[in-house]
Amino acid sequence: MKDNPFETALTTLHEAGALAGIDPDVIRILSRPKRIFDFMIPLKMDDGRLEIFTAYRVHYNDALGQVKNGTRFAPDLDLDTVKALGFWMTIKHAVGGIPAGGGKGGIIVDPAKLSDNELEKLTRAFIRKLPLKGAWVDIPGADIGTSGRTQAWMLDEYEEIMGFHSPAAINDKPVATGGTYGSAEATGTGVFFVTEEALKSYNLKPGAKVVIQGFGNVGAVAARCFKNAGFKVIAISDIKSGVHNPAGLDIEALSKHVAATGFVEGFAGSGVLTNKSILELECDILVPAAIQSVINADNAAEVKARLIVEAANGPVTPEAEKILSANNITVIPDVLANCGGAIVCSFERIQGLTDDYWDYETVLKRLQERIIRSYNETVSTAKDKRTSLRYAAWINALNKLSAAIKARGWI
Ligand code: NAD
Repeated sequence: MKDNPFETALTTLHEAGALAGIDPDVIRILSRPKRIFDFMIPLKMDDGRLEIFTAYRVHYNDALGQVKNGTRFAPDLDLDTVKALGFWMTIKHAVGGIPAGGGKGGIIVDPAKLSDNELEKLTRAFIRKLPLKGAWVDIPGADIGTSGRTQAWMLDEYEEIMGFHSPAAINDKPVATGGTYGSAEATGTGVFFVTEEALKSYNLKPGAKVVIQGFGNVGAVAARCFKNAGFKVIAISDIKSGVHNPAGLDIEALSKHVAATGFVEGFAGSGVLTNKSILELECDILVPAAIQSVINADNAAEVKARLIVEAANGPVTPEAEKILSANNITVIPDVLANCGGAIVCSFERIQGLTDDYWDYETVLKRLQERIIRSYNETVSTAKDKRTSLRYAAWINALNKLSAAIKARGWI
């Protein structure tokens, strides 16, 4: 049976809540979304047929501020996934010190099967039919199946409906429509900033060996950051296979190879690895940046890294984390390691609200300050509570949410 992601999120909520001594009534409030919109979008297709699509938007919790983030267009989307993603965004915003709640939404559709015209009409209809939206309520961003192009259509539709400009109402839009510099690189760069800060505690320095699973948006950017800072990125994989060079891979040349061939396979001067063996390679830092549950009870004992940085969402299972901890391997959890994208999304809203647009260097500098502050808050709680960084990050988030829920008089 497929794992239910919402049940997984609730399990972590209850465990971290118990460790932090969170009021049971706060846990009850955080166990369900504030609002769920479940609506249909009838669409005339190019060939004249009528298709009826199912769309969702979940405002999970807005105690810390307006909800925001991802809109997923995927054929296997379901409501429990949207609820879980909305909940994780709530936690991620709290961990990242972002004054926002968590939202998520999407449409059950395979965007690759739509024409450009159909995709644009469907995206605009999603915004038209979304009951509550805007810079102070809910700010849809991009996720799987959406991109700068869909976000620009969403913004244009929203502004047409309202009759005024409001760039802060939609996230992940192109710079030409009021988007922010640095949004494409935010998550991968944040992964690097957190790792660089963590290394101070492990006596690891530039020159340390890094292995990265996944060479997409996040993995490729992180790889470039590590290489530029003098680390040796010795192995990288994608969905097909991995490449390995103990002397360090040339990331620029690898990017060109992937742009030309689609995969890392066949990169000159490198050995070949499987996606299983890359995780078991001798290295200092392992960065899973592809999919969930890749480090699990079956292979955790074979991991030889000193530090695992969860760039992907949920790459280390709870059973694996126990084995890693017994082997003295530290895991920097996803809600902290990959919250750089969420942080820069909040910068995008600030810039849209103020009409004061920052340059690339300013965005990165503020991202670095913010994510390092979150890392240090997490480490401090982990020490105080004698717990893992994962539980510490959740404890900090739950304490912030609990304070806001109580101050608002919800309980
Ligand atoms: P992407 O689609 O751009 O890249 C994914 C990479 O993983 C590709 O290289 C792909 O070939 C590889 N891959 C896919 N399936 C694989 C498999 N079964 N085994 C090994 N490799 C596989 O995605 P992305 O935007 O880089 O996101 C990567 C991860 O980071 C995802 O878990 C995503 O949820 C998470 N994440 C992304 C962002 C963001 O801003 N993009 C933010 C937070 C979290």
